[in-house]
Amino acid sequence: MKPIRVIGAGLAGCEAAWQAARLGVPVILSEMKPKRFSPAHRYPGFAELVCSNSLRSAQLSNAVGLLKEEMRRLGSLVITSADLTRVPAGAALAVDREKFSDLITKMIAEEPLITVCEEEIAKIPEDGVTVVATGPLTDGDLATSISALFGGDQLSFFDAVAPIVDAESVDTSIAYFASRYGKGDPTDYLNCPMDREQYDAFYQALLHAETAELHDFDKEAQSEPNVFEGCMPVEVMAKRGYDTLRYGPMKPIGLPDPKTGREPFAVVQLRRENVAGTMYNLVGFQTHLTYPEQKRVFGLIPGLANAVYFRYGVMHRNTYINSPSRLSAQYETLFRPGLFFAGQMTGVEGYVESAASGFVAGVSAALRARGEEPVDFPSSTVIGSLGHYVSTGGLGKFQPMNASFGLIAPLDKKVKGGKRARNDEYANRSLCEIDQLRSRIFGQP
Ligand SMILES: Cc1cc2nc3c(=O)[nH]c(=O)nc-3n(C[C@H](O)[C@H](O)[C@H](O)COP(=O)(O)OP(=O)(O)OC[C@H]3O[C@@H](n4cnc5c(N)ncnc54)[C@H](O)[C@@H]3O)c2cc1C
Repeated sequence: MKPIRVIGAGLAGCEAAWQAARLGVPVILSEMKPKRFSPAHRYPGFAELVCSNSLRSAQLSNAVGLLKEEMRRLGSLVITSADLTRVPAGAALAVDREKFSDLITKMIAEEPLITVCEEEIAKIPEDGVTVVATGPLTDGDLATSISALFGGDQLSFFDAVAPIVDAESVDTSIAYFASRYGKGDPTDYLNCPMDREQYDAFYQALLHAETAELHDFDKEAQSEPNVFEGCMPVEVMAKRGYDTLRYGPMKPIGLPDPKTGREPFAVVQLRRENVAGTMYNLVGFQTHLTYPEQKRVFGLIPGLANAVYFRYGVMHRNTYINSPSRLSAQYETLFRPGLFFAGQMTGVEGYVESAASGFVAGVSAALRARGEEPVDFPSSTVIGSLGHYVSTGGLGKFQPMNASFGLIAPLDKKVKGGKRARNDEYANRSLCEIDQLRSRIFGQP
């Protein structure tokens, strides 16, 4: 059988190569390290964790915890290696990053069906089955080749995302549904009203909040005038003057509070993020604040005191494809069967999510190479829901997303006992599906 090509031995590429080999398909895995390192990579081994050593929650009541359990049951290389190199981290799965990378590098090197090539790939191969998994810092000729493949403007190089919260965690005894001047569907926006005193407290907290440290390559990307003026961090806007936010993203005009009939002093608008209305984003609140500071400062916004964040705001260099309608839920390009993308560059966000997309792309590429059709990973599982999100997108501009219960297919029955019980039900449903999927793909009970 002709080998498939996997480009990039990061989290997604290693997982994809491993799964393809597991299905009996030979793989050529190309990795540019140690000849060339991206600005974030330092370690010569594969599957390098470029920042935190945490793979986040290990609990099934959390979407990324459930995703890990799904992958563990499916036989993921990344999760099995993480379990074997784990370090104590409370409710999270954290690893010794060097042992983790060394173990994965060794497993790949010892797998007879995988041939590793130390080479930088400059162009997407024109034929054969290929998985491109070169990560969010893909640049140079390969980025140009990918951009050309998708028609020029379908590759983003920068990600400015406002926080996304669980709709259920917004206090609707304070926040109210309304579109500006009553135009459009009122459920498109939830509005958090502030009086002058509340605005003052919020404004002061925002001015003095702690921001995350920027990498040089992020600074460089953001020094572009178009990027900076087009998506200025909310805390930078605040520093331009007391009223700047009230004339910008916190403009109250046309949004009277139904309780008073008057326009508040300022308003934070939350925009519906998905059709189901389970996720809302804070409009215009892209930010560099650290995650704990986002929770603290945005918690001062009336209605958001107990907000649960599906995703915190970020602004960083991030090369990703505008995937909806271009990739399938198995991460295969719709216009060229056999060409797959995987990892953060497809619009999933995070270590585990990147590995998860590598899992699906690797299995699907192997099936293609064997002349079979890729299998569907259902959206009732977290792993499947990510592929479905990437292939269809939410409302508005496509933005990378972490695993979240907001992406998973809703339950078809009401569950008593609150959020915890509902998340347990999501986990039970998903893990049943995963057990069946494992037998279907790998023939193991
Ligand atoms: C600075 C930074 C910090 C991050 N921190 C976190 C975090 O703390 N937690 C988290 O969950 N997520 C984090 N992420 C997001 C994301 O989870 C990681 O980027 C993750 O490593 C993505 O996995 P990947 O497999 O898609 O890409 P990568 O892990 O980046 O792997 C890509 C691989 O492809 C290789 N490569 C690139 N171009 C070529 C080429 N042309 N030819 C051959 N090989 C090539 C690279 O050397 C690399 O080994 C961070 C991202 C960045 C950029």
